[in-house]
Amino acid sequence: MNYRLSDILIDEGRLHRRVKEIAEEVSREYQGKELIVVGVLKGAVLFLSDLIRELDVGVCVKIDFMAVSSYGASTKSSGVVRIVKDLDTDIKGKDVLLVEDIVDSGLTLAYLVKLLRERDPKSLKTCVLLDKPDRRQVQVPVDYRGFSIPDEFVVGYGLDYAGLWRNLPAIFVLRTEA
Ligand code: 5GP
Repeated sequence: MNYRLSDILIDEGRLHRRVKEIAEEVSREYQGKELIVVGVLKGAVLFLSDLIRELDVGVCVKIDFMAVSSYGASTKSSGVVRIVKDLDTDIKGKDVLLVEDIVDSGLTLAYLVKLLRERDPKSLKTCVLLDKPDRRQVQVPVDYRGFSIPDEFVVGYGLDYAGLWRNLPAIFVLRTEA
């Protein structure tokens, strides 16, 4: 199967404006507190790095990362979530913000939320850049959401297909070629 990029779904300007808005909400919520921002590798890296730079200096930010198994070279979720890299930080008693690139079936985020809750953080909220609500299989709390998007496979701004296209500054739909 061959793939090609379609037109831009979300351009750089819209992305950056929305990231700034989310950062303002997060800054209000965690003003004067220490916040551990947990990024899910690798897709959330660009979003996380833009988001934390927009946070108010009144929020004391630490970052950490988890890596979970991805789709590999497929555009459909296997539903199987495997931890490839765990946190370096003990989150017991801490305020934690889990940052994900996209919530699709919800299986990955639901699994991570359950796993992190078991570690007894003071609070745990989720922040997702993109949401495909039509594809949800399990209910999962999304506290901060960038954009709701249609059921299309997207790449760019951290999101990949088979490891490619993460570097694109905007979000594109990936289409199959006849
Ligand atoms: P879920 O477990 O919610 O079905 O899927 C979450 C993970 O699937 C995301 O972290 C992401 O890695 C991948 N994913 C889901 N939809 C897309 C998409 O449209 N594009 C890309 N690049 N990855 C996706």
